[in-house]
Amino acid sequence: MIVIGNNVAGTTVAKAMRDADQAVDIDIYSEETTPYYPRPRLIDYLEGKVLEKDLPFYPLDWYQTHRLGLHLDHRAERIDRTEKRIQVQGRWELYDKLILATGSSAFVPPFLGLPKENVFTLRTLRDAKKIRELAAKSKRIIVIGGGLLGLETGRGLCSAFPELHITILESGEHLLMRQLDHEGADILQGWIEATGARVSVKAETEKILGDGSEAEGVMLKDGRRIDGDMIVISAGTRPNLQLAKDAGLKVNKGVVVDASLRTSDPDIFALGDVAEFSGQLWAMIPPALDEARIAARKILGQSSPDYSGTVPSNTLKVAGFDLTSVGTVRSLHEPPEPGIEEIRVTTADRGIYKKFVIKDGKMVGAILLGTKKEVVKVTKLIREGTPIEDIKDRLRDPSYTFN
Ligand SMILES: Cc1cc2nc3c(=O)[nH]c(=O)nc-3n(C[C@H](O)[C@H](O)[C@H](O)COP(=O)(O)OP(=O)(O)OC[C@H]3O[C@@H](n4cnc5c(N)ncnc54)[C@H](O)[C@@H]3O)c2cc1C
Repeated sequence: MIVIGNNVAGTTVAKAMRDADQAVDIDIYSEETTPYYPRPRLIDYLEGKVLEKDLPFYPLDWYQTHRLGLHLDHRAERIDRTEKRIQVQGRWELYDKLILATGSSAFVPPFLGLPKENVFTLRTLRDAKKIRELAAKSKRIIVIGGGLLGLETGRGLCSAFPELHITILESGEHLLMRQLDHEGADILQGWIEATGARVSVKAETEKILGDGSEAEGVMLKDGRRIDGDMIVISAGTRPNLQLAKDAGLKVNKGVVVDASLRTSDPDIFALGDVAEFSGQLWAMIPPALDEARIAARKILGQSSPDYSGTVPSNTLKVAGFDLTSVGTVRSLHEPPEPGIEEIRVTTADRGIYKKFVIKDGKMVGAILLGTKKEVVKVTKLIREGTPIEDIKDRLRDPSYTFN
């Protein structure tokens, strides 16, 4: 078996295959030079809470103990489906089954004025090192993108370098457009601004300013100018599709897979950020874990339930700001669809905001802001589709904690 990619999807599928079969040969090719590290830890690294040496999830000898052939700094260049082999550093390696866990890359919108040496995205340890190094010498940082990652990056840098002035620019109507509604985002923005950071919403970047190789700031479409010594763009990700496309696999937004995580080629599987299941790209860790565990058994021809999707769950990992969004909170910006009921609760001091989305007597989504006591129980209710009619009225009580 050959796995391409050594982050959470690649490592988990390799481990699950080894757990299920002691004899099978497994090789992992990774273009990164560090063994698997969870990307959320990069925020801790930016903050100075974790050293580079402590980032890897497993030490190198773990791969040896599990007889996983790990080839770091080995980019897979081509897939030859006819001969069932991949090309790596000019050599050909044969596979029985090939697993694409090539993930995604940071997306950079086509702003005028790029590229510039002091404009970054955060995806890899190499990115984090460059950001941290320059942030230590900077006074004003601009973060373009008010999603989870943009906020976590901004807060991570603020706490590592308290003298830094941070401006967060969000092109949408409010922060966390995918996780929060107006009311929740308004509360969150207030908290962030109270820490000294500036937040600008409806702030669409047009141009990165600076005549030479260095950016000096950002020009917004409405003509406003924001000065900065460095810029971090956090505008989402795009799956790494080139290998799959060149190999003629079926590709839409991602590599299209079925409920066995099989691509249009029966000997090639895809999972994690690169895979598109049922029209959906997840770009999150929990689906990668679910998919990897199912795919491992399917690849080995062992019995396994089919993959049917994952209930999304997002947590803002910023000290002091508790925010979790679980399941379907899609009716954020429009009136709820017919059959959907929304219950919103805010405490008098606006320290807690909760929203529950209910359909057919079951909770299908929730936002919990300023509280984490209920997160596990609410997530369980949503994942298990438990009927909630008997507790529905109590949801309106801000102090109700699902006991
Ligand atoms: C800073 C940060 C914080 C995050 N926080 C969270 C969080 O809190 N919760 C959450 O759910 N998600 C979070 N995410 C997203 C999460 O990390 C991704 O969903 C997850 O990493 C996807 O895993 P993956 O293995 O599919 O792909 P990736 O992590 O993208 O890994 C793919 C690997 O394959 C390698 N590769 C690609 N092409 C080739 C090739 N041709 N040859 C060899 N190697 C190749 C890449 O270099 C990469 O190392 C965060 C992401 C970042 C950057």
